[in-house]
Amino acid sequence: MLIVQKYGGTSVGSVERIKAVAQRIAKTASDRSIVVVVSAMGKTTDTLVKLANEISSNSCRREMDMLLSTGEQVTIALMSMALQELGVPAISLTGAQVGIVTEAQHSRARILHIQTERIEEHLQLGEVVVVAGFQGISQTPHQEITTLGRGGSDTSAVALAAALQAERCEIYTDVPGILTTDPRIVPEAQLMSEITCDEMLELASLGAKVLHPRAVEIARNYGIPLVVLSSWSDAPGTRVVSAIPKRPALQDLELTKPVDAIEYDTNQAGISMLRVPDRPGVAAKLFSSIALQKIDVDLIIQSIHESNTNDIAFTVRKDALKQVAAVADAILPALIKNYDPSLGEPEVKTEERPIAKVSLVGAGMIGRPRVAAKMFETLAAAGINMIMISTSEVKVSCIVDAEDCEKAINSLSLAFDVNVADISMSSADLELGEVPPPVRGVALDINQARLAVRQVPDRPGIAAKIFGLLAQQNISVDMIIQSQRCHSVNGSLTRDVAFTVSQPEGEATYQILANAAAKFGWGEVVLESGIAKVSVVGSGMISHSGIAAQMFEALAVSQINILMIATSEIKISCVVKEEHGVKALQAIHKAFGLSGNGVVKVPA
Ligand code: ASP
Ligand code: MG
Repeated sequence: MLIVQKYGGTSVGSVERIKAVAQRIAKTASDRSIVVVVSAMGKTTDTLVKLANEISSNSCRREMDMLLSTGEQVTIALMSMALQELGVPAISLTGAQVGIVTEAQHSRARILHIQTERIEEHLQLGEVVVVAGFQGISQTPHQEITTLGRGGSDTSAVALAAALQAERCEIYTDVPGILTTDPRIVPEAQLMSEITCDEMLELASLGAKVLHPRAVEIARNYGIPLVVLSSWSDAPGTRVVSAIPKRPALQDLELTKPVDAIEYDTNQAGISMLRVPDRPGVAAKLFSSIALQKIDVDLIIQSIHESNTNDIAFTVRKDALKQVAAVADAILPALIKNYDPSLGEPEVKTEERPIAKVSLVGAGMIGRPRVAAKMFETLAAAGINMIMISTSEVKVSCIVDAEDCEKAINSLSLAFDVNVADISMSSADLELGEVPPPVRGVALDINQARLAVRQVPDRPGIAAKIFGLLAQQNISVDMIIQSQRCHSVNGSLTRDVAFTVSQPEGEATYQILANAAAKFGWGEVVLESGIAKVSVVGSGMISHSGIAAQMFEALAVSQINILMIATSEIKISCVVKEEHGVKALQAIHKAFGLSGNGVVKVPA
């Protein structure tokens, strides 16, 4: 039996800690083969970056890789010595010595394949093999040293586990595992015993510090059982599980493609509540009434609003449309009590045309701003108009006319070179030890700014234009929302498009779009920096009705107004005012019963 163990920087931060880790390895090494992957000691990598900055503010990436890769080389040698000192046969190997072959991209190389012969030879001899994480070697004739990007030793470990077909990969860190939320904000945060790879990816803002998303992606694609656990205790930690994998070939190990799949769902019907009051409790009332009827809601979108009204658009299964429309009609009077009629008549509108949901899925889109833009460009080139857009960390979903569905998936699968899956009837086939709870964890992101472009023409190519412009400037867009409301401007229809970016990029984004708006005759561009995003994630919500309602109710009870809503199948995100962020997170964490009695100890 073979196990890959990875020890992060703090776990090997001093000679004492290296010795303690060696003890731990020695215990396991008696009855199984072990490959150990280590990070640089403590904050070594940061210190090396600082050194380089003292010489030049833009050192070339090749020399940065030469420099940063030394950190891990110190740790492997010391770890191997510590093991030998305990009488455990061990040998250290650099990425190049192993043959961790990567792209030639310095400072952010992806792993192409791993030569396993040398490691296997040493394992045969009964040695523990200690491998430098975070580094590889390019295929070019020059065999350059490359690094995988900050935090990349998780990726090294999981890739090695895949290549060696290890039993499992254990990620040792300074926290006891993955917690239900950020314990600095919610001290009652609890340790999860299990989480799926998809959930982990959607919780990027919470989980990425503990486990690198690229590592999660490999674990998911190859079905590597992954465990995150503390190197200070014997507690079992958190299992990160995946669906039964297709076991892809081991070359091009890290997907160089940003997208894994295209999904579509034709069993969708759209409905919206237009011009409802913009105040706490409206979404809660609507979705709790729907939940009472046990109707599953799929996509939910609430975009920016004007004159104190909101549009909330959502989709349900086709056969539930009539019933859901009746529920919406019935509660409308209650929602608009004391309503100012000058704001326009609120109404429930069901989408007459048949619609379909088309989604792009893949962890590779994290940090690649071009993906959404390319999707919109592809659809525009095919002449397809998007009725709604909703995004999450690893998914972009568009609602289109059902008659455009086939054209949409064909052009997307060509453009992205991936397979297409019909998810209209599917359910997750996970190898779970437990029934997945509807909500696994909640996350808060206060480092966001919201932008909106008002009154852009309602025709193919506009979203492509907007997000193409931003992608050109390398601006990553987080949550994109295009909702229902149409205005008639000089006889032609327009819509508003809203999205979030990271706060520091807000101003630059505003400038780009303000220029574009002037040039193309779009409406006003609005920037709002004081916002926060709260999200709940759980794969069990697919088969539970009322999760959105519960989240919105928790916000309503705290008198928190929801500014925007976007969802994917396993995630619901709400944008609220920044000053409400912490309270929102605490309320939602509590509402889903995620709080425990004990306090999980985490180092500062
Ligand atoms: N030492 C590298 C870093 O600090 C890689 C890692 O620790 O994962 O980013
Ligand atoms: Mg790390």
